Amino acid sequence: PPPAAQIHRLLRQHWGEARLQRLHDIGRTAAKLGTPAYLVGGCVRDLLQNHPAPDTDLAIEGDVRAVAEACTAQLSGMQCTYHPQFGTAILEYPDGFRLDLARCRVEHYPAPAALPEVRPGDIVADLARRDFTINAMAISLDPGSFGDFLDPHGGRMDLQHGLLRVLHPLSFVDDPTRILRGLRFAVRFHLRLEPGTHVLLKTALARDIFARLSGARLWRELKYVLELDDLAGVFEKLDAWQLWPLLRPVPPKSETLLSSMQRGQQEIAWFHRHCPGEKLFDTAVLLTLIWRHIPWAEAEKRLHCWPVTDGHHILRDLQFLSEVSEALAKATRPSAAAQLWASLSLPGILALLAEHPESDAVAESGRHYLLKQRGLKSPLSGRDLQAMGLAPGPQLGKVLRRLYEAHLDGEIEDKETARQWLIRQGILPSIQP
Ligand code: ATP
Repeated sequence: PPPAAQIHRLLRQHWGEARLQRLHDIGRTAAKLGTPAYLVGGCVRDLLQNHPAPDTDLAIEGDVRAVAEACTAQLSGMQCTYHPQFGTAILEYPDGFRLDLARCRVEHYPAPAALPEVRPGDIVADLARRDFTINAMAISLDPGSFGDFLDPHGGRMDLQHGLLRVLHPLSFVDDPTRILRGLRFAVRFHLRLEPGTHVLLKTALARDIFARLSGARLWRELKYVLELDDLAGVFEKLDAWQLWPLLRPVPPKSETLLSSMQRGQQEIAWFHRHCPGEKLFDTAVLLTLIWRHIPWAEAEKRLHCWPVTDGHHILRDLQFLSEVSEALAKATRPSAAAQLWASLSLPGILALLAEHPESDAVAESGRHYLLKQRGLKSPLSGRDLQAMGLAPGPQLGKVLRRLYEAHLDGEIEDKETARQWLIRQGILPSIQP
């Protein structure tokens, strides 16, 4: 294992002296309470790979609440959130630095894919319950052994050799979500399955292990997979690990699906650049592209099984996307195009944009709709029209609609040009009293 001095160097290099000092403080506080603390999981893995770690997890051999409260008492401005139902705590420093604390625990799976029964344990047991060797390493924060590296399953060697390895034969059966977690790690860190783990994966799939998993748990993991930047890597692993059936419905084999999804990623990035702060369910764009060429009835039947947020929007888009696409190619007026775009959800619009080359007419009309037309308000309201002498009623509604279309077509810009337009249309008399 790397000597403590090397761990110190890595910590100082990636976290800086001030944060390293915080780890020393926590280690001392925890030791005083008789509950040793360790850095664990992804942050240790990332440290060894010279990646900065966004999340920092601590495992405590004892009462998490006592450690969290003692740390909070020592530093003014430190926030502590304790979750009694999970026995976890979040410490947030005044500068935003965050630490997640959890109690070391043993897990027992009463049945395949069931949620585990949990009881307190020590750090060795806590590492043994984890998903992969590369995530089962820890660094001691105890003052007597600060920086000592715990790697009982050989995670560092596996990381060096680019191998993804489970800790025990029933790992995927206990928790099939580990298969998709593993896919994410394999793509992110360019790992391949250790041969024994590959056999275990095949065995678990042959037992149809995912069928036992709740839709919500499977869906969450799939969503994380689709959020990876490297979609080519995801496709390669979905093929190699034979995981396409998880998508339910499975998209037909297609040479162009990957490139259309990569275009989808570009459109998502384009949208976030141009409409910062606006909410978009990114995954829905990719799901729409994945399921785009599946017969709608089939999609409808299967999509109901998924707890997909906004699933009904995806379904509706799938139903009308081809029709809208054809009509858009024929639309001559910007107002007609705007109405067609408005019939799709935001992810549906971006999915359709992804199907067109960046600069073709449909793509341009879509971008124009998103940036210029979508938020447009008619310069005159029904009340304004009534003040101009128009009687309330269905006719007024029709005028409002035509006015709005003229606005979308760029024929009017403000109240005055709208008034002139109404005169030109013979709706208002040319000389008003
Ligand atoms: P990242 O946050 O960079 O994606 P991470 O390893 O921190 O990676 P988390 O999902 O935050 O991922 O999990 C933290 C740690 O908890 C993991 O490193 C792993 O040790 C353990 N873990 C999480 N989920 C499971 C699981 N389903 N089975 C076993 N261990 C798990």
